Amino acid sequence: MFTRILKYNIFNGTKLELINYIEKFDKVNIISGNPEVLHNGLNNELLFSSFTGKNAVIIPDGVGTVLAAKIIGKPVKEKIAGIEVMEEIIKKCEKEGKSIYLVGAKRDILESCIEKLKIKYPNLNIVGSHDGYFDLKNCDHILKDIQSKKPYAIFVAMGSPRQDMFIIDNMDKLNCKVFMGVGGSFDVFSGKIKRAPKWMIGLGLEWLYRVSKEPWRIKRLTSIPKFLLQVIKYNKSKQK
Ligand code: UDP
Repeated sequence: MFTRILKYNIFNGTKLELINYIEKFDKVNIISGNPEVLHNGLNNELLFSSFTGKNAVIIPDGVGTVLAAKIIGKPVKEKIAGIEVMEEIIKKCEKEGKSIYLVGAKRDILESCIEKLKIKYPNLNIVGSHDGYFDLKNCDHILKDIQSKKPYAIFVAMGSPRQDMFIIDNMDKLNCKVFMGVGGSFDVFSGKIKRAPKWMIGLGLEWLYRVSKEPWRIKRLTSIPKFLLQVIKYNKSKQK
């Protein structure tokens, strides 16, 4: 069910298998394992121990991670985009009467994300939310609100590593089952940002679409070759 890439176990089943798999946890942190996030984890002990902890499941989010699994010789069944997992969990919550809480993004984006989600999933119970612009070391008011509302799932959309740090600091204090950092997903649900067209996603070119819309992202792409190079080196040393 997992492909070992560098020191990470990457979930290699389908998206629906993942949704079943996370059921067995009391608490689970779903990590969108794109090369940037995984590369950051290799250089930061705190992130690394969270990504490899017993409550973490790393999904192959990103064509770079899918490629890395091929290089290792144990390909994943499919690329699993974090935003699609978020949506599957939302559908499950709507169906089963479970609640969610949203943390992240700018206030207006967060509000229109909630509005759009309520239109798409009319029976979804969004018990609370907070924008993503606050002091991570001074956010007891947010934690108290989450504790009092006891959501089943909490989605944190503040980009990595900020969203990961929020989850690392607070996972023990919060009684939610599912924790997930979801990057720019609230922007997508709000309608402010569009995902790449399906044909581009199918060809593994979502990164190219995002860079064409937000050129500042180009710098962040450098972690893809760095990560892949590490994978190739590691793989070669294992074969010797
Ligand atoms: N963001 C936030 N707080 C911050 C910095 C960023 O809530 O201090 C939000 C930002 O408004 C946007 C999201 O984080 O909604 C950006 O995520 P990004 O695009 O970096 O994530 P990716 O999808 O690339 O992982």
